[in-house]
Amino acid sequence: MKITMAHGSGGKATSELISRIFAANFKNPVLSAMEDAAVVPGAGTLAVTTDSFVVTPLFFPGGDIGRLSVCGTVNDLLMSGAVPQYLTCGFIIEEGAESDDLERMARSMAETAREAGVTIVAGDTKVVEGGGGVYINTSGVGFVPPGRRVSASLCREGDAVLVSGYLGEHHAAVLSARMGIENRIRSDCAPLGEAVESLFQNGVRVHALRDATRGGLATVLNEFAAASGCCIALREESLPVSAPVSGFCGILGLDPLYMGNEGKFAAVVDREDAEKALAVLKASQYGENAAVVGSVVPGEAGTLLVRTSIGGTRIVPELYGEGLPRIC
Ligand code: MG
Repeated sequence: MKITMAHGSGGKATSELISRIFAANFKNPVLSAMEDAAVVPGAGTLAVTTDSFVVTPLFFPGGDIGRLSVCGTVNDLLMSGAVPQYLTCGFIIEEGAESDDLERMARSMAETAREAGVTIVAGDTKVVEGGGGVYINTSGVGFVPPGRRVSASLCREGDAVLVSGYLGEHHAAVLSARMGIENRIRSDCAPLGEAVESLFQNGVRVHALRDATRGGLATVLNEFAAASGCCIALREESLPVSAPVSGFCGILGLDPLYMGNEGKFAAVVDREDAEKALAVLKASQYGENAAVVGSVVPGEAGTLLVRTSIGGTRIVPELYGEGLPRIC
C-alpha cells in the first residue's frame, strides 16, 4: 500500500497507520497508553540528545534508516557516559512511501531498541507531499551513573587513543548502494552499549568518548584536540581498515579517516589503561577489531597529526566544505 495524504489527516487512516505499523512493533505499556506525553520513572543525572536521519537509500547492506535512527541516538547517549533508557521517534513520511517499507523500518527499530536495552516511549508521524521519502528523528534520554564524567575537554598529554574497530564501513556501504557497486562491504551500524559499559565496568579510566559518525575519526579527534587544547598523533599503520574498504577507498580516492561510521567510537584513556582498554574492547560485542591508534603528545594545541610508517608526519585538518555525500 502506498502512503497518501489521507494517512496524515489525523483521521481513521492515520490511526490505522499508527496502530498497524508503529504501535504494533514498538508495543510497551508506556506507549500503549497513547497519552499525549510519556510519563516514565527516572532520577539522577540525565543525558539528553536528538538526531535526524535522512539517509538514502532507506535500506542498505548491513542496515536501514530504522536501525540507524536507534543506533545513532543510543550511541550519542553512551558517549556521554550515560546508560540509554528511553527513545522517542518522529517520522516524516512523504506521500508515495510504501507501507511495507515502513513496516520493515519499524520492525528493525524495535529489534535494535531491544538489543540496545531502550524503550520507545513516544512517537509521532506526519505525512507530507513529496516523492516517497522517509525521514526519522529520534530523541533519547539516558542516566549518567554517579561519579562518571567523560568529556572531550579531559584529554591530556600521555593519554592513549583507541578506536573500536574497522573504519569507513557504513560510509562505503551506503556509497556502494547509491552507486550500484556490488561488493561485500556492509554498514557497521550497531548499538555500542556493551563495548562502552565494559570499559567502565573493568575500571578503565576513560577521559573522552565519541562515536566516529559523519566526518569520521579525523573529525572526532580534531574535536578532542580543540576541546582539550592538546595535540593528538596517530600511527598510520595502526589504523584498522578492512581489505574491502581499503580497496574501495583506493579506487575512489577516499580517505577512511574521514569516512562516517555508525558502530565505531574513539576512546581516549589514561596511558596506563591502554592495554586493558584494548583487551576489554576486543572481547566485547562489535569490538573485535579495536586498536590503539595513537596518543596525546606534546605539540601544537588543537592539532591532529598522522605519523607514517616511513617516518613522515602530516597534519590531518578538519573536513572543510561539502565533503562526502549524505550517509546518515
Ligand atoms: Mg555522536
